[in-house]
Amino acid sequence: MQFNLKLIVKTFYFRYDFFSDCMRVFCRPFNRVIAMNKGEQVNQDEEGSSETNERVDTAFSALRRAILDRALEPGARLPADSIGVGFGMSRTLAREALLRLERIGLVEMRPKRGAIVACPSISEAYDIFDARQVLENRCIEHVIRRWNSEIEAQLEDHVKKEETTARFGDVGASTHLAEDFHIKLGHLSGNQVLAKFIEETVSRSSLILALYGGPHQTDCSVSEHRMILNALKSGDQSAAQNLMNGHISALQSRAVVDEPPAEKLRLEQIIGRYVTSSTG
Ligand SMILES: [Zn+2]
Repeated sequence: MQFNLKLIVKTFYFRYDFFSDCMRVFCRPFNRVIAMNKGEQVNQDEEGSSETNERVDTAFSALRRAILDRALEPGARLPADSIGVGFGMSRTLAREALLRLERIGLVEMRPKRGAIVACPSISEAYDIFDARQVLENRCIEHVIRRWNSEIEAQLEDHVKKEETTARFGDVGASTHLAEDFHIKLGHLSGNQVLAKFIEETVSRSSLILALYGGPHQTDCSVSEHRMILNALKSGDQSAAQNLMNGHISALQSRAVVDEPPAEKLRLEQIIGRYVTSSTG
C-alpha cells in the first residue's frame, strides 16, 4: 500500500513531544547497529545536527498523528525508504523515527517485513486499560506529593484549553489535548519511567479507540478531567484516584465496543479527506 507521505505531513498539526530528546538518544545506538549490519554508511554530521533531529521529530509527530487519526491504517506498511523520501531525510533517520514510534507502541518492526502500523487485539485492548489503571493511580500519588502552585497552574491552564477547544467543537484538537492531559500528569509525577509507560499506554489507547471505538464524547472527557483536577487541588488523593479509575473505565467502554470495526476507507478516500481539510 502506497501513501503520499508529503501530503500527510502537510495536513498534520505538529506538536512538541516531551520525550523527543531522550528517546532519540536511546534509539540512536540501535539505528547505527542496524544501519551498519545492512552496510549503510552512517553520516555523523547528519545524525547529530539539530536540523536533522528536528526532521526526525517532525516525521515522528506527523506519523504519530497520521496513525492515531487512522490516515495510516493498522497493518499498513511503513517502508523506511518512502518515509525518508517523504520527509527529506536518510533511510537511517527514517528508521530512527520508526523506532521511536515502536517505543510508544504505535509501530511494530517485523523481521523481513519492516515496519507496520501496530494492530492491537481486543484482549490487548483490555490489558492496556488495566495497566493504565495501575500506572495512573500511582501517578496521582506522586503528583499530590509534589503538588505546588506551578503544577497547579500548568494543569489549570491545560484543562482550560481543553474546555475552550471543546466549546468550539474541534474534536481532533480536543482528542489531542485529552491525551496530553494524561501525558502531562505522567511528567508532573517526577518519575520519568512512569511517565514513559503512561505515554505508551495512552498512545496505545488512542490506537485502540481508533480501531474499535464508538463515537468519541469529548465533552464528557473534559468534564472528567476537570473533576480530577479539582480533587488534586483539594489534596484529596483517594477522591482523585477514584475519579481517575472511573475515567479510565469510561474511556475503555468508549474505546472497546462490541461491534466490528467500521468499513475501511480506500486510500483515495483518505487522501481526499486530507486534501479537503488542508485546503478548506
Ligand atoms: Zn482523560
